Amino acid sequence: MEKKLKILLVDDDLVDRMAVRRSLKKAGVQMDLSEAEDCTRAIAILKEKNFDCVFLDYHLPDHDGLDLLKDIQAIGVKVPLIVLTGQGDERIAVEMMKAGACDYLSKSRVSPETLFQILQNALRIHKAEMEAQLANQRLRETNELLISQNQELEQQRQQIELQNEKLKEVSQLKSDFLAIMSHELRTPMNAIMGFSQMLMLQRHGSLTAKQKQMVERIFNNGQNLLTLLNEVLDFSKIESGSFQLYLEQFDLAALITVTSEELGSLAVGKNLTLQTELQLKNPLVVNDRASLRRILVNLISNAIKFTDSGGVWVEATEISPELVAISVKDTGIGIPEQDLENIFEAFRQVDQSITRRYSGTGLGLAITDSLVKMMKGKIEVESELGKGSTFRVELPRRLER
Ligand code: ADP
Repeated sequence: MEKKLKILLVDDDLVDRMAVRRSLKKAGVQMDLSEAEDCTRAIAILKEKNFDCVFLDYHLPDHDGLDLLKDIQAIGVKVPLIVLTGQGDERIAVEMMKAGACDYLSKSRVSPETLFQILQNALRIHKAEMEAQLANQRLRETNELLISQNQELEQQRQQIELQNEKLKEVSQLKSDFLAIMSHELRTPMNAIMGFSQMLMLQRHGSLTAKQKQMVERIFNNGQNLLTLLNEVLDFSKIESGSFQLYLEQFDLAALITVTSEELGSLAVGKNLTLQTELQLKNPLVVNDRASLRRILVNLISNAIKFTDSGGVWVEATEISPELVAISVKDTGIGIPEQDLENIFEAFRQVDQSITRRYSGTGLGLAITDSLVKMMKGKIEVESELGKGSTFRVELPRRLER
């Protein structure tokens, strides 16, 4: 015990106090000793000053030791208490220990050695208790913090869930609206096209050249509108999860050839070459023919649309017996790097302005991407601005049901 200990000795008996004081001094305890002869004085001193230890006689003039101990606890002072008992006061001592005293010593056994020993023990135990209390307090605080953070997280999770639900609802409403609107518009559109076709056949009297030209424009614009409506309808079906693939075995090479031929006139109209290069040892695949045609049409017509000179190449290769790849390459305007990842999103177009040069809904690649995903394949794009783009689709040869 190197530091000077602040000790309070509470005893109404002068002789007993002297005996304790002497023994402590003899034991070599460096101390600043305060003394009190009753409970009232002891409490007053304890309120003024901090102590390292209190020696306490049980029998005091105003109250007993137990009352004092409770008073000390009531004013929130945490200090080790050593009870000094008279002969045969063991029962009282046990009572005091139960109430929170640290140790007890019979006055008849007071000696430098016993006091030193008991003081050392009391200080050690008190220190350990304080440390444990502090650790407990910290643990409680951390626990409370964790609980409140957990509550906050839970609240945030619930909010996100709510927002997700709302978003899903809005998205569903949007899909429903698109589906209904495009479906409803298709019927009058078909009538417009049917009647304009009949007019073009000139069965009910001949048309002037000007009238014929006007009817042809009605028909062509109607066709464009119908394509657009079909795209919107398909997209809303895919988005709502109601679109299904119909699997069958067919010749992929033949499908690519036929589709390229169908779109050939578009390329010719722009003075572009359209070539196919088919390197499939086994051209048979199991997939949804109509959806795969859809992918080819989207990619080839985009390639033609966004190319002003040069050409378009469609290539099919076998990566492995179980994996085939289709590439559509063009020498067109290319896509800026920052737009490469966005172009597969619905309604995304590199040029979003109203006055844009190229027509379209911005749904073609979104539909293509969704279909490729449904087919358990992947789509990639490489592009250089002003030089051209290559879209590459990888698909399993056999799609399982
Ligand atoms: P759109 O109806 O506009 O063609 P898509 O979803 O098919 O919609 O394509 C989205 C956008 O990606 C296009 O508007 C265009 O900006 C860009 N894009 C697609 N294919 C090509 C291509 N071969 N060359 C350059 N840009 C392309």
